[in-house]
Amino acid sequence: MKVQQISHHVVFILLAAAVRSQVNPEICRYPLGMTSGQIQDEDISASSQWSESTAARFGRLDLDNGDGDGAWCPDIMSEPDGLKEYLQVDLRSLHFITLVGTQGRHADGMGNEFAQRYRIMYSRDGSEWVGWHDRKGRQVIEGNRNAYDVVLKDLEPPIIARFVRFMPVTDHSMIVCMRVELYGCEWLDGLMSYSIPDGHQMIYRGLDVYFNDSVYDGASADRLTKGLGQLTDGTWGLDDFLHSHIYAMWPGYDYVGWNNKSLPKGYVEMIFEFDHVRNFTSMKVHCNNMFSRGVRMFRQATCYFRSGSDWEADPVTFRPTVDRTSQSARFVTVSLGDRTASAIKCRFHFSDVWMLFSEVAFQSGSAVYNTSPTATKHPTNTPPGDDPTHKLDDSNTRILIGCLVAIIAILLAIIVITLWRQVWQKMLEKASRRLLDDELTARLAVQTQAFSSHHSSLSSESGFTSNFTYERIFPLCSDYQEPSRLIRKLPEFAQSTEHLGPSTSCRALAASGADGAPHYAEADIISLQESSDSSTYSITAVDMTLFAGTDSSMREFPRHKLTFKEKLGEGQFGEVHLCEAEGMQDFLDEDLSIEGNDESPLLVAVKTLREDANKNARNDFLKEIRIMSRLRDPNIVRLLAVCVDTDPLCMITEYMENGDLNQFLCNLRLKEAADEDKTEQEEKEGESMVSYSKLIGMAVQIASGMKYLSSLNFVHRDLATRNCLVGKNYTIKIADFGMSRNLYRGDYYRIQGRAVLPIRWMSWESILLGKFTMASDVWAFGVTLWEILTLCKKQPYSQLSDEQVIENTGEYFRDQGKQVYLPKPPCCPDRVYNDLMLSCWRRNAKQRPSFQEIHTQLMESLA
Ligand code: AMP
Repeated sequence: MKVQQISHHVVFILLAAAVRSQVNPEICRYPLGMTSGQIQDEDISASSQWSESTAARFGRLDLDNGDGDGAWCPDIMSEPDGLKEYLQVDLRSLHFITLVGTQGRHADGMGNEFAQRYRIMYSRDGSEWVGWHDRKGRQVIEGNRNAYDVVLKDLEPPIIARFVRFMPVTDHSMIVCMRVELYGCEWLDGLMSYSIPDGHQMIYRGLDVYFNDSVYDGASADRLTKGLGQLTDGTWGLDDFLHSHIYAMWPGYDYVGWNNKSLPKGYVEMIFEFDHVRNFTSMKVHCNNMFSRGVRMFRQATCYFRSGSDWEADPVTFRPTVDRTSQSARFVTVSLGDRTASAIKCRFHFSDVWMLFSEVAFQSGSAVYNTSPTATKHPTNTPPGDDPTHKLDDSNTRILIGCLVAIIAILLAIIVITLWRQVWQKMLEKASRRLLDDELTARLAVQTQAFSSHHSSLSSESGFTSNFTYERIFPLCSDYQEPSRLIRKLPEFAQSTEHLGPSTSCRALAASGADGAPHYAEADIISLQESSDSSTYSITAVDMTLFAGTDSSMREFPRHKLTFKEKLGEGQFGEVHLCEAEGMQDFLDEDLSIEGNDESPLLVAVKTLREDANKNARNDFLKEIRIMSRLRDPNIVRLLAVCVDTDPLCMITEYMENGDLNQFLCNLRLKEAADEDKTEQEEKEGESMVSYSKLIGMAVQIASGMKYLSSLNFVHRDLATRNCLVGKNYTIKIADFGMSRNLYRGDYYRIQGRAVLPIRWMSWESILLGKFTMASDVWAFGVTLWEILTLCKKQPYSQLSDEQVIENTGEYFRDQGKQVYLPKPPCCPDRVYNDLMLSCWRRNAKQRPSFQEIHTQLMESLA
């Protein structure tokens, strides 16, 4: 066989695999090219510009934030009402857009322009424009609050468009400038619009259930026409149509549904219009099948095809086996027999009173899902219906080849990774398969990414791949904010800890770093995902404005006034030293001065950035300073001053005499009731003892510190005894904001490369869905409380290997009673275990207590 033929075969096989893929909103979140420059200057235009230096082409979001100059600023004088100004981006082909980012202009302190609020308009063809609104109808998006930071907004619902306009909402009181980025992936379904009868209303046991297409963006008269909506928003309905996994929406929200009695012909007719002529292999329809409530999947689909002006006479008819046993919602694949068309008309026949669809997707010869966010763009825009004789035009062929090359590269990468990390892959695959088998409603973000790279496919028996149904435990529409000088790569965290088995006694803190890498080396933290690619780790709703701004109140302390005493420990950034700080008490402002401590010189802990730290670690260090400088609470370690004028960078914090809580407790024994009447000698020995009430007192202090953090909506992400410090008289303070800092990394919701995660402290949704919230901090608090009451003698789930911990996470998720909870510590009263500890590990994050409640409950348990 000739090489060309072989390559054709390979291409065909890869194509066959590729067409199985479909857009997945949780994965489809790639920057579309404003920042990288892939979107050309000529594709960025605007209604007006303030001056040549603020033309549209400068409206590119800048993650490094450079000198902060260069942004698009409209000429506000040109539009009296200011509402019509826009910055327009032409993506050259249809894209599924899930996220937008905006930033202002600061010009290194010379400028202070930003858009506090803005709207978005979009168009698929460049002539019909639609105003985006969220699921509740709100059009205005809250934008930037300062000229530096990037603010990311989830588009819920996502947009399918080629042209997007950012329209600042301004009252003329200030000049507005914007730098923007769009995130998503190419929309290779090619579907430009669908036309359907709008959904009907059901009354179920007195409850109004609305099955209308609430996000449809076309016209609505007798039928909905010329738009896209819920059937293409990438969100699948749950088995029980009364529930919606989109937060706070009405019953039936996820589905568009019709009543047989209102459609006398006995079928629902849908017309799908595509961007150009395509060769259709199949259509997937996500149907509800809750027959106990009169809902069933369709009994027959008859599809007609049109390439020119008329519908062809010979339809394709498909009769699925109607499932009379399982009530699960499912995708039904309708084979379209490789028919060529630019429009398809399908009639779906009822098999019961109701028929409910939540998603429709098409697989066509030219719909090869892009494997890379930077996939080749259509060099030309092919208008709908053009050139019906060609199945694939030149531009598509080029895209195809580009995609196939990328697929081959990814396959090779997968093979390498597979061999390299076989153990991890097995474990994660197993968890993934289980989730899929059970038709569970969540997406295992971590391993999907690990295996699929940018290409969102994972084979499953159903043949419908990659677009796992997922349950949004928390609405995704949170503010994602990132301060300006964030770094985009992860620091090279600790060495792999795969070799570390479960420990059984006091855990040794690994404080290595022989390789010179910054380390977070702990047996408690494992490297969960080590793909060279990224995993989707969503950042949560943290109001970073609380931490934003440049005017850090931290003052520079004269370095020469620090006298080294001893080394206290070693952390991710470098060493921590005990030092005497001469004149520190006088140096501190009133609100920072350390009460009751008149020692002079004052003892302080000095954390120093290692000399060989790279730029990223350096920026991280500064970031941690910035976060800590704004935290003021008796149970949070206080940052007193900094030395950042020259290297090495130092942060000076209050000294906590008894080191970290883990080591502290590990060396203690629990004081039993019998220990109360000890002789003096025994009492001395008893110094290494601690009472139950002291332990609870420590937990109260941690809860109090966390209560403060939660009042700022600040997610710590790494709460554990190892990250709490102990001062005099059992004073506890929360420290180590290293993990929370990672929330604000340049790559937003991704952890690239080696992600080391404290899995034994992490909630199921943090591990499986990458969601970190106050509620996941509550979960970690439960584990921390358990550590305290067991005096840190064992690692949590010490009987489980890391793989088994992940497996157990799957069980927490499934919630079928198979999950293993941490056992009740011997000294822990039933009430504290049942009402408090277990409540922190509730599956439903909303049902977990708040830190306020935890604090009150713990205080009451002491009374
Ligand atoms: P870190 O870099 O914050 O992880 O700190 C590493 C180690 O240094 C901790 O585990 C503590 O044992 C010690 N350490 C850090 N900060 C302090 C402090 N403020 N007072 C006493 N010991 C500290």
